[in-house]
Amino acid sequence: KPATTTAASSADSYPTSHDQIQSPANTQNFLDSEFVESKATQWIDLYDPATNNLVTRVPQSTDAELKAAVESAQKAFPKWRNTSLLARQQIMFKFVALIREHWDRLAASITLEQGKTFADAKGDVLRGLQVAETACGITTQLTGEVLEVAKDMETRSYREPLGVVAAICPFNFPAMIPLWSIPIATITGNTILVKPSERDPGAMMILAELATKAGFPPGVINVIHGSAKTVDFILDEPLIKAVSFVGSNKAGEYIYSRASANGKRVQANLGAKNHAAVLPDANKNHALNAIAGAAFGAAGQRCMALSTCVMVGETKDWVPEIAERAKALKVNGGFEEGTDLGPVISPQAKKRIEDLIQSAEDEGATILLDGRGVKPEKYPNGNFIGPTLIANVQPHMKCYTEEIFGPVLVCLNVSTIDEAIDLINANPYGNGTAIFTRSGSTAQRFTHDIEAGQVGINVPIPVPLPMFSFTGNKKSVAGGGANTFYGKPGIQFYTQTKTVTSLWRSEDAVATKASVNMPT
Ligand code: NAD
Repeated sequence: KPATTTAASSADSYPTSHDQIQSPANTQNFLDSEFVESKATQWIDLYDPATNNLVTRVPQSTDAELKAAVESAQKAFPKWRNTSLLARQQIMFKFVALIREHWDRLAASITLEQGKTFADAKGDVLRGLQVAETACGITTQLTGEVLEVAKDMETRSYREPLGVVAAICPFNFPAMIPLWSIPIATITGNTILVKPSERDPGAMMILAELATKAGFPPGVINVIHGSAKTVDFILDEPLIKAVSFVGSNKAGEYIYSRASANGKRVQANLGAKNHAAVLPDANKNHALNAIAGAAFGAAGQRCMALSTCVMVGETKDWVPEIAERAKALKVNGGFEEGTDLGPVISPQAKKRIEDLIQSAEDEGATILLDGRGVKPEKYPNGNFIGPTLIANVQPHMKCYTEEIFGPVLVCLNVSTIDEAIDLINANPYGNGTAIFTRSGSTAQRFTHDIEAGQVGINVPIPVPLPMFSFTGNKKSVAGGGANTFYGKPGIQFYTQTKTVTSLWRSEDAVATKASVNMPT
């Protein structure tokens, strides 16, 4: 049973540089707490985005492997469900401790496979870890309700697990997103199949190893790999009761429809175009720093990246200063000291982003800072794009209508806060938004009138902590956002309510005729 879960990592040694891996090993399936080599005939090559060197090969898990994984999860379910809540909580405590212990190793896997800086990758792990830490409080979070509805009669509600559930994850947060699902799904008594992104499954493989060490029994967490074919298996497999998806609109809208049509519960977080409204009374330095950090951090590959600025009134004159701050950010390999932005995920993503910058130029916007052609000295073959700032953007331009998902900030100018609110609300996405102002009443008005589901007041990336829920809105969620991730709605998503009404008469019944009417 190999302890090494990808070519790039073992408990004792993990990469701390982008040096070429001499003999990249294959990523394995994780089934019944064992790492198993896939018998796949199709493999997906995974390249380090900073160098385009091969890191590992990810299998398109075979039909038999997918079936075995779901059957293992189904077999594990009755026993896991009947394991006491306190025993499951103890396992979660251990899991949390192990994630902290292996924090650097997890982050290193992310930097190698996804490209983000090591410091940022540590944040990726932390934001997932916090969901697991919060799940440790399940003993008070899972309580039902009891009401004495009449003399001798009471109604009580329980929350029961669903059975086997599945998570389909995106490339941009390889640790955080699996951890939006695993802790809550498992502590509430479900078993889970995880399909990490085929572009960076390494962090999930380490989490699987840690879950086993923490004491999760075989089958409670299984990991399968692949792309659309694996997803279709999940969507159509009757044993899978619920699907959690995070990723693009294209995949997510399809997944939501097909899984829902098959009678499954679905939670699906999709793409975004997050706007900041910048008011003339803002704390200028704070606002400009926050915007540059939130637009270009993680090379703009965050669903809550602040990719669009709405400059209100005279703040349009501040745009060159944002460009100055953006210019000062260092583009380099994610393991290098002092790097602010790593590469984007793939050469295809790089080309797509560069084409969108070109389209802005062609449509008459002003490219104030152009990151095309930026090439860190040590990484001539990586997928790098430097911070790019596009000013004087109009709402019909392609760089505005599409999610760019790269280190590109587009700036639009309006005259008033009303125009800013109208512009932001006219955008079909509604993940997050931010306002920069010193005025409490302007902020209050913005908060009330804006349609985006997550609002930051002088906070550029208002991702709610795990005691709240991730509440994107409009086109940024499928199904109207009824099933949001983590927090109380997360627990609701992974549990079914059972309501029990009981009658314990203190006197023996005397009537001998049955009543056929609804009680009045
Ligand atoms: P993606 O949709 O390409 O991939 C996500 C998952 O879906 C992967 O596991 C992939 O294998 C699978 N998939 C991809 N295409 C598919 C298809 N045609 N059929 C079936 N399955 C398919 O997304 P990505 O590029 O990995 O992630 C980036 C996207 O995710 C961005 O749009 C970003 O905004 C979004 N995102 C949203 C949130 C959020 O909470 N709203 C968080 C992170 C990322």
